[in-house]
Amino acid sequence: KTALVWFRRDLRAHDHAALAHALAAFGRVYCAFIFDREILDGLETRADRRVEFILRSVEALDAALRSLGEGAGVAHAGLLVRHGFATEEIPRLAVDLGAQAVLCNRDYEPAALERDGRVAAALLRQGIAFGDFKDQVIFERDEVLSGSGQAYSVFTPYAKAWLKRLGDDDLRPHAVAARAARLAPLPAGERLPALDELGFTATNLGALDLPAGVEGGRRLLGDFLARIGAYQEARDFPARRGVSYLSVHLRFGTVSIRELVAAARAHDSAGARCWLNELIWREFYQMILWHHPHVLTRSFRPQYDAVRWDEAPALLEAWQEGRTGYPLVDAGMRQLAQSGYMHNRLRMVTASFLCKDLGLDWRLGERHFARLLNDYDLAANNGGWQWAASTGCDAQPWFRIFNPLTQSQRFDPEGRFIRRYLPELAAVPARHIHAPWLMDAGAQAAAGVRIGRDYPAPVVDHAQARQRTLARYGVVKGAD
Ligand code: FAD
Repeated sequence: KTALVWFRRDLRAHDHAALAHALAAFGRVYCAFIFDREILDGLETRADRRVEFILRSVEALDAALRSLGEGAGVAHAGLLVRHGFATEEIPRLAVDLGAQAVLCNRDYEPAALERDGRVAAALLRQGIAFGDFKDQVIFERDEVLSGSGQAYSVFTPYAKAWLKRLGDDDLRPHAVAARAARLAPLPAGERLPALDELGFTATNLGALDLPAGVEGGRRLLGDFLARIGAYQEARDFPARRGVSYLSVHLRFGTVSIRELVAAARAHDSAGARCWLNELIWREFYQMILWHHPHVLTRSFRPQYDAVRWDEAPALLEAWQEGRTGYPLVDAGMRQLAQSGYMHNRLRMVTASFLCKDLGLDWRLGERHFARLLNDYDLAANNGGWQWAASTGCDAQPWFRIFNPLTQSQRFDPEGRFIRRYLPELAAVPARHIHAPWLMDAGAQAAAGVRIGRDYPAPVVDHAQARQRTLARYGVVKGAD
């Protein structure tokens, strides 16, 4: 019997639920990845770091499958790669290969669920089965519910219940290598596409410290495990190497979540526990999206849909381009534009600034992040934005408004991060770096910068913006 394993956001050949199940139950197992035009055609730029990251990781996956096969005496195992619509390519491949089943790992995003439904229906018409497996999370769907059987909408009790449920079995890897002899040799003439054949051009990915594929994920994990003990105290300071930078690998499955949770448990320190908590946030938001798909377009809490946002395209553009005049906000936005990454503290600061200083709809910011983040994940991004806009589950209360100056003083006290991304402020002394517009003409001259010419004056006054925001959110007062 023959199976086709369809890889999506799980680009690894170890600890892989669908692949392990296929190898256990079928005598011949093919592996495929589709560069899905339904997704790629919708991207706004032809130079997208994520497409390049995926291609590099797909190449590594192909090589890993080939060497697994070789180790088990199978010549020419590997990955079948197509560029087209997954809803057509997967059924066509399954028929051509004579497969009785297509197996994949579950994706919980509404568009993916809908696509998988179409693929399953097309396969069924050909008499081919479709099976999906839990892989990218430890607990899914209804596995962590409150005592009364409800989905949690507050994180802390969810995390407690999640940790209580966690047992060694949940972290057991889905073994692949032992049955690698069942991997099927690729049909003759198979080869991987080049980036330009997919219609994309190279980005600066190669120049970033962001190695792709399973090897890249292992390198980052090894680097992080050596400093995980300091995570709790270092993670909030963007100038320090305090976090793991593994988010893009979690997004595309070049690391296994089971491996990460097991590593955090084994370390058993305050830093490791704090990091595990972040991995639980990831599942919490995936579960929120699963149970409440309306968050895709609307506020988690419906009464917040009554909030009226301003229309100010020039302010939106200043925010997107890192020209608000608030150095920490601008440094974060430029980090995003230059690298596709933004430190978590800055995601919170810049998101809050968009909604609560500029008075703009959180969905505009959500969309901008979705365009640029290498680790863009619908559930985490939506959750983060609704948290910052106070419209979400367990969100920042609406009357708690980040002060961009205080945030800057607390989390980048010397301005090291700011200077890294705003070279025009390189010579501004630490006491002025958070609010350079307060420098008099002499100080500006000494620092080699003229505010309003070389670096913008603030586009809004925080104290006034705060008052406007409190008034704006007045519509939800008492509604909670
Ligand atoms: P680490 O601190 O090392 O954390 C480890 C992992 O835990 C992360 O890789 C991530 O998978 C998970 N994690 C950490 N914090 C969160 C969180 N608050 N919510 C959900 N998962 C979390 N994360 C994304 O992966 N994709 C997004 O599109 C995304 N958009 C965001 C938008 C906003 C407005 C905010 C405030 C946060 C967003 N986050 C998003 C969460 C968080 O900022 C990133 O996961 C984190 O900065 C990634 O860096 P890291 O891997 O070094 O994190």
